[in-house]
Amino acid sequence: MQNQVPQGKHWLDKVIDGIDKWQAKYQIKQLHVDDMKTPSGRVHTGALRGVLLHDLVAQVLRERGFEPKNTYVFNDMDPMDGLPAYLDPAVFEPHMGKPLYQIPKPELDHCGIDLRQASKEELVDLQNAKNFAEIYAMDFIHAFRALGCTQEIVWSHELYESGAMDQHIRTALDSVAKMRKIYQDVAKYTLPERWYPFQVICPECGKVGTTLVTDWDGEQVTFECQANKVTWAKGCGYTGKISPFGGTGKLLWKVDWPAHWAAMGVNVEGAGKDHSSAGGSRDMANAQCDQVFDITVPFNIPYEWILIRGAKMSSSKGVGTSAREFTKLFPPVVGRFLFASRNYAQVIDFDPTTMAIPDLFDEYDQGARLAWGVEEGDQRLARAFALSQVGRAQTQSFLPRFRDLALWIQYPEKDLEEEFAKVKGEALTEVEKALLEERKHYAEIWLTNYAPSEYQLRPRAEMPEEAKTLSAEQRAFLLELRDLLTERKGLAPADLQQEIFNLSKSSIGPKKAFESIYLLLLGKKAGPRAGWLLQATDEALLSRRFEEITKL
Ligand SMILES: [Zn+2]
Repeated sequence: MQNQVPQGKHWLDKVIDGIDKWQAKYQIKQLHVDDMKTPSGRVHTGALRGVLLHDLVAQVLRERGFEPKNTYVFNDMDPMDGLPAYLDPAVFEPHMGKPLYQIPKPELDHCGIDLRQASKEELVDLQNAKNFAEIYAMDFIHAFRALGCTQEIVWSHELYESGAMDQHIRTALDSVAKMRKIYQDVAKYTLPERWYPFQVICPECGKVGTTLVTDWDGEQVTFECQANKVTWAKGCGYTGKISPFGGTGKLLWKVDWPAHWAAMGVNVEGAGKDHSSAGGSRDMANAQCDQVFDITVPFNIPYEWILIRGAKMSSSKGVGTSAREFTKLFPPVVGRFLFASRNYAQVIDFDPTTMAIPDLFDEYDQGARLAWGVEEGDQRLARAFALSQVGRAQTQSFLPRFRDLALWIQYPEKDLEEEFAKVKGEALTEVEKALLEERKHYAEIWLTNYAPSEYQLRPRAEMPEEAKTLSAEQRAFLLELRDLLTERKGLAPADLQQEIFNLSKSSIGPKKAFESIYLLLLGKKAGPRAGWLLQATDEALLSRRFEEITKL
């Protein structure tokens, strides 16, 4: 049957069409895609939206022969202006106000990063991180590298120390009158009398958030380190003069952004929704490109959020809330596919506690079949599949459906390779077997952490509420079953199945008997074959559960 879904252009191709026209209009020679982030603590999943968007843009530009630069800036000159809950205030309070790259990193065990699934390489990188900014940046870098992102990393403090910012710092300091007008016109904000867009790192106490520049003579700035400039840090009172060049301080954030563009030659940078409002930081930056730094306003892609929902994630385990944890939910290609398949202007609303993960796998598989030409339909999905192939591209093969796998994996009697061979109609190839193994890993993660209860077919750790509905005769049967299991320990699953059947026939009959086993272990009326299920169930759990029957 012909699929009637409209087959428009993929949104990324439309974005690149726009860049193409824009580049011709402004006669841009070298395209430079960039994005940035302040590494002030564990990086949330939301920050992945920007990274993936920019990397996908660079990817399609490369496809079209543009050879863009592709960078990611960590704003590690920014001051620490808040303390994440997982950090010890006794250790970090004294560092409030210092630039993030000047603050010692927390110990690995107390840094708030969930290291349970960290690879050896990740641990080494985190261990070798030189400072506070770097440990959280490194954690984030590993997360987006896992999704195939290839950005070159730029550390803002190195850019300042290299002198690359000097000329733009001078321009900014010389342009206070223009800045004043921009703040007024764009943000409707009247700057105070003595205002300069620069903050010195206090040579006395090392803080940058507490200093105020009060004069600029063309060579040096005069500054004060004020006790009460901000509520979150206390300055030391030092006053003095210093050259603003070579990393002695930084531009104020709203000026720092376009100054980075000027220094690096950035001309494609999307802004997240939080910066894109009228009169917001993006408008401010654009006005400065025009009126202060004399560069072309970078091509903007105002992008939407990714929202991660689910009660489980915000409370008990916190799984999936950080970028690192989110990337552990799927294979890299499927994670990248999520971003490639969603238009940048639409919110991605993702709740792993629903069927969102199996649905995503289904969509990915459909994209694959469309790309391989074995199914007809919306070619945009095929395009998203192609763009998500990191490392070696997935060759045409049978894809074991994730939700079936997640279900069958809980049936100890099932041989998964055989089951999927039945679906496929012939034996799985080596590639398909490897894919099956990979999906098993992610199915386990889903089942353990997120799957809705109707997908949970493994013995529950606690007595299921439903077990209370067991009748007196069913309880009696279960106690007989306990004796059977004790007497005939080590029985093969098939033999055990037969023994249970025999036992049931002499008492309550097979239907009620098997139902009682499922109610007791799973809280359900059906499940995997009982002989296999019982043999696969942890012995301690089983004897505890039988014990509990007597107390029901
Ligand atoms: Zn100071």
